Amino acid sequence: MNFDNYYPFAAVPLQYPLDALDPNISEYTMYFHHDKHYLNYLNKLNELLKDSPLMQNVPLEGLTKTEDKDVKNNAGGVFNHELYFSSLTPNYREPSSRMKEKIIKSFGSVEEMVKKLIEAGMSVVGSGWVWLAEDRDGNLVILTTPNQETIDFDKYTPLLVIDVWEHAYYLDRQNRRSEYLAAVMNVLNWLAAEKRLGEQS
Ligand code: MN
Repeated sequence: MNFDNYYPFAAVPLQYPLDALDPNISEYTMYFHHDKHYLNYLNKLNELLKDSPLMQNVPLEGLTKTEDKDVKNNAGGVFNHELYFSSLTPNYREPSSRMKEKIIKSFGSVEEMVKKLIEAGMSVVGSGWVWLAEDRDGNLVILTTPNQETIDFDKYTPLLVIDVWEHAYYLDRQNRRSEYLAAVMNVLNWLAAEKRLGEQS
């Protein structure tokens, strides 16, 4: 993740074609999600910061914690979506031995962690996010946040995030969030998660 990300924010292109995650996530969903939902947050954030020189000196993850509700919401929308799109890959690979060791230490097994990620996703009421993060003792934890809120970056390094807003799955699966969560497990980018281990802002 880029923790040195300042205004004006530039859109991060998808690192894979729009249809690359199909059938787990369709091209149609990825198009609306990246090119419409995400870009709307980004454009809105740049617009809000246009006349605020003080805010222009705050990095993106700081803006997700600001008092200004509009800025906070749109900065969260940008940060969370950029992490989400980079949490997915068409080239699925199992967690490496280093990552697997951490998973087993924190959850008992990869299967148990997957079960807990899905349960956490189902537990979010309304719109929100499921995070796999590393705490300051090096343990992995699963957290959820509502709306466009982010986790506490002083306490946790985000490794992966899963969008459980309806727009992430409604076009493909209508109200079947559990089907979407199961499909996401097939395309999680464990290599990217591992690269974030130990990162701090
Ligand atoms: Mn979204």
